[in-house]
Amino acid sequence: MSMARKTDVSQRLFEEASRYIPGGVNSPVRSFRSVGGGPVFADRAEGAYLWDVDGNRYVDFISSWGPMILGHANPEILEAIGMTMGRGTSYGVSTELEIRLAREICEAVPSIEMVRLVSSGTEATMSALRLARGFTGRSKIVKFAGCYHGHSDALLVKAGSGALTLGVPDSPGVTPGTAADTINLPYNDVKSVRDLFAQSGSEIAAVIVEPVAGNMGVVLPEEGFLQCLRDETSKHGALLIFDEVITGFRMSYGGAQEYYGITPDLTCLGKIIGGGLPVGAYGGRRDVMQQVSPSGPVYQAGTLSGNPLAVSAGLAMLRALRRPGVYDELRKKGELLASGLRRVVDELGLPFAVNHIGSVCTLFFTSERVRDFDTAVKSNTKLFSRFFTGMLDEGFLLPPSQFETWFVSLAHKQEDIEAAVQATKRVLQRLN
Ligand SMILES: *Cc1c(COP(=O)(O)O)cnc(C)c1O
Repeated sequence: MSMARKTDVSQRLFEEASRYIPGGVNSPVRSFRSVGGGPVFADRAEGAYLWDVDGNRYVDFISSWGPMILGHANPEILEAIGMTMGRGTSYGVSTELEIRLAREICEAVPSIEMVRLVSSGTEATMSALRLARGFTGRSKIVKFAGCYHGHSDALLVKAGSGALTLGVPDSPGVTPGTAADTINLPYNDVKSVRDLFAQSGSEIAAVIVEPVAGNMGVVLPEEGFLQCLRDETSKHGALLIFDEVITGFRMSYGGAQEYYGITPDLTCLGKIIGGGLPVGAYGGRRDVMQQVSPSGPVYQAGTLSGNPLAVSAGLAMLRALRRPGVYDELRKKGELLASGLRRVVDELGLPFAVNHIGSVCTLFFTSERVRDFDTAVKSNTKLFSRFFTGMLDEGFLLPPSQFETWFVSLAHKQEDIEAAVQATKRVLQRLN
């Protein structure tokens, strides 16, 4: 039997939060609206564990939605932040730290010759699109249903993540004019890409894609999909933008582009490169990046861009990820989780799909193979909600949505992962 968790303090904070903050949360993905119940309020976190304000301890698979790939409160990152903090927290003039992070990113990511630091993934994708339009002189962009690229207007069309979870993939407030320049295609559908380019290739500024989709749950690119995007954009003079805000420094040190051997024109980064502080980045071909202000005419700026604390955290993060064996260890831990989940659903005779690669994984409550938005949304989200709550009571914090990714970090121990698999079995048995 699962013990009912204490939630008194979280409940009280949520009521208070709801008076001052829309929905009581500063990002919709933190809301438990789709799974029921009030959200968890964190007190502290360390390694693979998060404690809430009611004193419950969870093995955490949200991992701050990706950045915490070393686990929480990593001593090297805390030390780097502390050292920098003593010298001030923001200057509004340049620092040497920014060069070091920029150089590290350029050396790590195959497509990136120059990079601009910003403060979030949203800023990175929004700026990359503006740049692609400025560079090509074209208006239209292509995205894929269920991919999420942050919350800028042009990209909030059939968007994944919280927008999908809460049923608002096309947000009110995005003007028809803006939406009209965004073309949505099904993920993994090579034919629709070829047809579109054959018909209107000369109007397309850029194709933006999550090279492994993580915001409708984990969906892998099928053989030939990314290559097709590379071929069609090259042939028609459009830019290919990889949104590697999740996959960057996670799939491998050089991201998904290194993993799959496909080189985009521009790449967007975020999450991991800030080590848990707000950072994003966009970079790519030198001739394209040189169009960015002040070397070129495409304007983009930020008061806190390249913030010294955030950059220090990012540098410490990348230093840790350069150690030999890190990506093997992440892969093994991800594999342990995914194979465990597959074994459990097999044993219980449940037909559910487990999508997985490297250190990311989603258990979909559907019997169909999940390869795009349409197959992902066939999942039984009611059943997922009950599963989610059951796991929470067992002490495992999963993303509160069927359409999100479970993130495994280096801090997850084998026992943590095996315990999560066992808990999954118990909870699914109870639901059955
Ligand atoms: C999280 C995410 C973003 C947005 O990043 P923010 O820092 O939340 O603005 C963009 N693209 C992808 C693929 C993401 O997962």
